[in-house]
Amino acid sequence: MNIHNKFTTIIIIILTLSIFTTLTTSFPHFFPNISSIPPSLIPNTTSGAWDSFNKLSGCRPGQKLEGIAKLKNYFHYFGYIGNFTGNFTDDFDDVLESAVKNYQRNFNLNATGELDESTVKQILKPRCGVPDIVNGSSTMNSGKAASIEGTVAHYSFFPGRPQWPPRRRNLTYAFEPQNQLSTDVKLVFANAFARWSEWTPLTFTETSNYRASDLKIGFYSGDHGDGEPFDGVLGTLAHAFAPPAGLLHLDIDETWIINDVMASGSSSAMDLESVAVHEIGHLLGLGHSSVENAIMFPTISSGVRKVELDRDDVEGIQVLYGTNPDGNGTTGPSFGEREVNGGTRGILGLVQVLFLAIGLILYVF
Ligand SMILES: [Zn+2]
Ligand SMILES: [Zn+2]
Repeated sequence: MNIHNKFTTIIIIILTLSIFTTLTTSFPHFFPNISSIPPSLIPNTTSGAWDSFNKLSGCRPGQKLEGIAKLKNYFHYFGYIGNFTGNFTDDFDDVLESAVKNYQRNFNLNATGELDESTVKQILKPRCGVPDIVNGSSTMNSGKAASIEGTVAHYSFFPGRPQWPPRRRNLTYAFEPQNQLSTDVKLVFANAFARWSEWTPLTFTETSNYRASDLKIGFYSGDHGDGEPFDGVLGTLAHAFAPPAGLLHLDIDETWIINDVMASGSSSAMDLESVAVHEIGHLLGLGHSSVENAIMFPTISSGVRKVELDRDDVEGIQVLYGTNPDGNGTTGPSFGEREVNGGTRGILGLVQVLFLAIGLILYVF
């Protein structure tokens, strides 16, 4: 074997070992009832609850196609089709066209009323189960007139603007005892609560008294008794109820990641803290926002971490509760250091590995 072949072999071995170690050691899948499942047993599924909508891409008003009825159910569930009893048909009718247009406005897409590629792509994304339009009253973009300056706020509230009353600023939270959550998982929620208390007079304290706590957090599967069943992997991820209900439910069937979602290696990995921060916004009275960077935007892709409040979230929550009296001002978060996506981390890791490999070779020879 000549020296070049030796070099190549060593580099390949080091790279393989590094990648293998990364995959096996940073795989902190979280399953609420079972503290440790070997990574090899974890399903790496790509099939989501709404994958069948893919085949509707390109569909337009006037057409009839199998699967349209299911899509109407989807729009009905999220508030875009109201007051309907009975079975939906597979006709792309006026009702669906209007729903699609409202949806497109809310998600900053061209309001064509057709199921173009970008619209279907958005529909397929995993999301919060709370409707975008509650009781027919429009929230997000579709219900708001654009201001002249284009500075219209995009945060929203539930109808009637329910909120925790002034005498209740120090809220307690507790976890569904049956889930037997680990300290690590509880810490994720503590961090998520802290992101809201930073900008408001609200405080959040964990209590072991589940029944008496203001906010109750639990992981559930499928139909769990509140009329809002979960749908398995992806699709709806979680939901929470407006004040003073205080209920935050998460889909037990998701692959929840509590540590490093980017390195999880699963295509259905959802970052627990990102979803928790969003749902806490609902517990406090915020509805959905059409600002894509906002925590209260309804969808989040797998493998993405988005935990920092956006200015839009801060403005919305401060309308309800005011600013944090112990805070350092009212200007809202600095928006330069967002922790949104992990695209660069993987590349940085690879560069690190290469440098290590080269260093080792130089040392050996
Ligand atoms: Zn939501
Ligand atoms: Zn529920």
